[in-house]
Amino acid sequence: MHFISSLLESYITENSENEPKLLEELARETHLKVIQPRMITGHFQGRVLSMFSKIINPLHILEIGTYTGYSALCLAEGLQKSGTLHTIDINEELHSMQRRYFDKSDYGNQIIQHTGDALDIIPNLDVVFDLIFIDAEKTSYNDYLESILPKTKPGSVILSDNVLWSGKVVEPLNPKDKATKILMEFNKKLKEDPRLETVLLPIRDGLTLSRVR
Ligand code: SAH
Ligand code: CA
Repeated sequence: MHFISSLLESYITENSENEPKLLEELARETHLKVIQPRMITGHFQGRVLSMFSKIINPLHILEIGTYTGYSALCLAEGLQKSGTLHTIDINEELHSMQRRYFDKSDYGNQIIQHTGDALDIIPNLDVVFDLIFIDAEKTSYNDYLESILPKTKPGSVILSDNVLWSGKVVEPLNPKDKATKILMEFNKKLKEDPRLETVLLPIRDGLTLSRVR
């Protein structure tokens, strides 16, 4: 979903960092071979994730929702030399494509893939994360938040994607639309939860930046 004109969007992208060649290739292969390619983080948002990660310079990153690995590779750009990125996806069919691109990158030996439901996997990760990217099943966002908070420390940053959900969060709610209802609750919770400080950024489909107090 795009909230600003395509002309401005092109201008913004043109005046931001170029897309690395490997990510261009990954995006191309995703569009050719994988279903629902619109889920991929694109050039502009990818550079935003990369920039946040470089500023934070995390030791450990957690990603919930790997898909074909695009956002993982963007986030990995900011990792410390001895750092790790754990990324979780429930779809095992994506595993080998993710690995192929991770191994072509500079971060292959730092990226750890987990296959399964994030809500089963997260409690078993014995890691404190400096940066977390939430981008899997929208109806589980509140549950992801509760499961990751014990794996953070003061100053940890949580990025939550697609929080504007094509603008549906401000439209009259269709009672059957569970994802929108939960995203609305999630956005309110991020704002009100005393454990967090939050700004919702109108980047692409909405990207919230929260900091653990
Ligand atoms: N972060 C990726 C896009 C993720 S798309 C990028 O920006 O390129 C959402 C992904 O979440 C899909 O690949 C889907 O398989 C995965 N997913 C859905 N439900 C999940 C769950 N319960 N646990 C882990 N992953 C899940
Ligand atoms: Ca997303």
